[in-house]
Amino acid sequence: MSLRNLILNHVIKNAYKHQIRLACWSCGKDVKNTESHLFCGNCKVLQEPDKKNNYFNIMGVKETYDLDETELAKKYKELQKYLHPDKFANREQKEQEISAQYSSLVNEAYKTLLEPLARGVYMLRLRGKEIPENTEVDQQFLMKIMEKNEEVENAKSKEEIMELNQENKALMKDLQKQVSTAFFDGDMKRVIKFLGVMKYYTSIDNQIQASIRSKGIIR
Ligand SMILES: [Zn+2]
Repeated sequence: MSLRNLILNHVIKNAYKHQIRLACWSCGKDVKNTESHLFCGNCKVLQEPDKKNNYFNIMGVKETYDLDETELAKKYKELQKYLHPDKFANREQKEQEISAQYSSLVNEAYKTLLEPLARGVYMLRLRGKEIPENTEVDQQFLMKIMEKNEEVENAKSKEEIMELNQENKALMKDLQKQVSTAFFDGDMKRVIKFLGVMKYYTSIDNQIQASIRSKGIIR
């Protein structure tokens, strides 16, 4: 055997060793290298979601706080198209159950990753960290939040609420940038600090969105 072949052989063998071999639950054949990773390449039966996968892997998007929301929405639509219950109406009971499970997992993953606060908290959890329940909050900051809260409550006109909405969205965007940088730097203390602040602005955002809905404003 030539040296080149020897090396090649070694590389192939090692690659093979590290590959996780999964057998299809239905036909027992190897399911690696299936086109969509959802279905068995042999019998085309839907496979169970891999428990080792996090929400990013499940959605097939890059694992980063700065994720592309358009890309995420696209992947979500694609996945739900494959997982739609109608597609499994005439299939075996077990496959129907897997599709329902998979579909709700995809919903959960999408919801979590789409929302900036939930995404940050989830990424923290992946790193074994959490936002502590009782964080000390600056009194001045709390006053500011309470004032904002009142402003939203007292907003009468469409213009008023939309202005508050714009202002709050800008603050959230700014915080997202801070969280993103902190994640990039691997500084979990800063991540926790900014996510703690984001919690308050998210609750104001929820309040604003509820007010927008109640005023029947279509955007
Ligand atoms: Zn199969």
